[in-house]
Amino acid sequence: MRDGMSYKGIADCNGGEPAMKGNMGQILRIDLGLKTARQEPIPKDLYSSLIGGKGLGIKILMDLLPPGTDALDPANPLIFVTGPLTGTLAPSMRGCLVAKAPLTGMFDDSYFGGHLNQEIKYTGHDAVVITGKAPLPTYLIITDDKVEFREAAGLWGRDTYETCDAIKAELGESYRVACIGPAGENLVKFALVDCEPHRHAGRGGLGAVFGAKNLKAVAVKGTNGVVVEDPAGFLAAVDKANAELMASTATQDLAEYSSVSLFPFANEFGFFPVRNFSDGTAAKPEAIDGKAHTARLWMRHWACAGCPIHCGKMSYIRRGPYAGTICDNVEYETVGLIGGNLDISSLETMSFINQTCDKLGLDTISTGGVVGFAIEAFIKGILDRDTTGGIKLSFGEPKGIIQLIRKIAFREGIGDILADGVAAAAAKLGRDTEEFACQIQGLETPAWGPRGSAGMGLAYLTGDRGGCHQRAFPIGFETGGSWPKGEMADGRRTEGKGELVAWEQNLLAALYSLTICEFGRSGISTETYLELLAAATGLSLDERGFLLVGERIWNLIRLFNLREGWSQEKSARLPARFKDPLPSGLMKGHKFTDEEVVELIGQYNIARGWDKTGRPEQATMEYLGLQELQKPVFPRE
Ligand code: SF4
Repeated sequence: MRDGMSYKGIADCNGGEPAMKGNMGQILRIDLGLKTARQEPIPKDLYSSLIGGKGLGIKILMDLLPPGTDALDPANPLIFVTGPLTGTLAPSMRGCLVAKAPLTGMFDDSYFGGHLNQEIKYTGHDAVVITGKAPLPTYLIITDDKVEFREAAGLWGRDTYETCDAIKAELGESYRVACIGPAGENLVKFALVDCEPHRHAGRGGLGAVFGAKNLKAVAVKGTNGVVVEDPAGFLAAVDKANAELMASTATQDLAEYSSVSLFPFANEFGFFPVRNFSDGTAAKPEAIDGKAHTARLWMRHWACAGCPIHCGKMSYIRRGPYAGTICDNVEYETVGLIGGNLDISSLETMSFINQTCDKLGLDTISTGGVVGFAIEAFIKGILDRDTTGGIKLSFGEPKGIIQLIRKIAFREGIGDILADGVAAAAAKLGRDTEEFACQIQGLETPAWGPRGSAGMGLAYLTGDRGGCHQRAFPIGFETGGSWPKGEMADGRRTEGKGELVAWEQNLLAALYSLTICEFGRSGISTETYLELLAAATGLSLDERGFLLVGERIWNLIRLFNLREGWSQEKSARLPARFKDPLPSGLMKGHKFTDEEVVELIGQYNIARGWDKTGRPEQATMEYLGLQELQKPVFPRE
């Protein structure tokens, strides 16, 4: 298994100049084809203009990816990137994996919890960048600045749990592992990267980027510490952040019931996906809410490193055909897409399908979207037993659903078409399947149907990695809250939504440059995040300055997406399903019209300082310093 190749890096690559504290000052670049590795310094001014995480990720991607390169080309860099608070005592931080997405052809930043992100930082690097393609299945071992390439023939074909266990058995438990399952190997365009069991870089298909590089796994161990600028001030800010988390009712709910605590709210308003988004409320909510999870499945709490929320729950299936299975709990998004969207109301069945997807290495949001689409195509006679290889598909019928999921992971028969995602499958199947293809900008719709939230519809239309709920979540402001201007934001109305969505996207982009977990944000205030940042790095920003960083990052990503072929006319469309009235819930009757979509996008472009096609105006480019930021810093080679 071992092929003996290894590399010892250079100790001081930053020209003797210390990095901004809180950071390590360099990236580690690995070429799988050439079997080389080297360190490169990160210019200090990038930390002040983009901070780290998402900001550093887009800068590296923009510089290294030759324009127009396919996401599955070996030149597409896989970028594990940390932030200035990663690996410190700051609570509730996650890791970030960036690349061009196979599913959407757009920028993708996918966040994962667990312990891997800290370990990457402890190797002495702010980012690990992997390019090229190994001639044979390979896994990487990164131990501080030493990189080893090992043959992975014995791991290829194995599921994510088996792969992680085998690597840990070989290297020891102290290594943290990211790996893919069969779906990534087979280039399924919504394959995930498993960051040790239970935490995933799920969206956009970055597992397929691993597969296209013949890269089965990355194992990481680091021994460096993170030095902060003002230790006493930092500890005070950590105490404040923890106190805010403890005082927040939202985080208390997450601690008790995980993200499933969001379900009653989503269901009451009609945002919950049911039968391929044809409805918005579950028939028997009490069967799948947080209390039911606790009563039927809960085994113990689980947390990412340094997180007092512990939203993770381990489950034990006690009843039925899957009894005896120990698995991760089903998060809200999976309850929505595997549960409601496929009309599965048994928590035990949902948990088993969730674990099946995790092991095969499939994103459950996209999988639920794709399977829901296939079931509706079957019901409408567009697919039949001949085309599905004998599988009968219907809502609420787990046997056919599990068989189809396996076919997708191995690209067998109809699974080969569905493995490219809903948008590509609808284009291939034709016959008006686009009418019920629930995707926006190529990304399968998450478990927040947008009817009843005009702002959410706009957030999906303008999301930087496709129609994603994690780039702005205006639902929170449109269902009884008031947004920071102090005004109520009615979910059925379009007024003011351009400004609202742009503001929240900017804030989240800035927060993701710290690689925060957004559940932490439900307790920790922006003011406290800024105190943590200042004490860690010496970079003192007020909220306005922080929003400016987020705006800069968001605009840079828009320039990247335009460069890679994204166009507003082609991509910013809502599925026909969301133009039918919502059948149930408090937002019953709401729908999107084509005129409203045009109006929302128009408002948004004005709020952003973009032209009518969604391109940043010259004045915006200058205001944000984008010309300078587009000049390459990291050499392509
Ligand atoms: S809230 Fe949950 S996902 Fe976020 S860091 Fe904590 S344990 Fe991890």
